[in-house]
Amino acid sequence: MLRIPCPYCGERDHSEFSYGGPADLVYPDIDSEDADAWSEAVYCRDNPRGPQRELWHHLQGCRLWMVVERDTLTHEIAGAQPAQAALKPILRSGS
Ligand SMILES: [Zn+2]
Repeated sequence: MLRIPCPYCGERDHSEFSYGGPADLVYPDIDSEDADAWSEAVYCRDNPRGPQRELWHHLQGCRLWMVVERDTLTHEIAGAQPAQAALKPILRSGS
């Protein structure tokens, strides 16, 4: 059973959460009209085997978006932190 350590609520069953996809996706600039780049960003995923940073939403709890470091092979979770703090370097580079 997958248990996710919410930074605010503590460890909870994954059924309380909604998966939001890979955390480190980089989308094209919002004004970009490059259809191939948008198609790649929206529909194509790497599907890695091993550690991955993922976005999860604690929908049935505190409603926090968080970045969870999960091994896709073993489902072992190395940690979780609020998305705003975890993605700050990425958000800064996009502006
Ligand atoms: Zn929570």
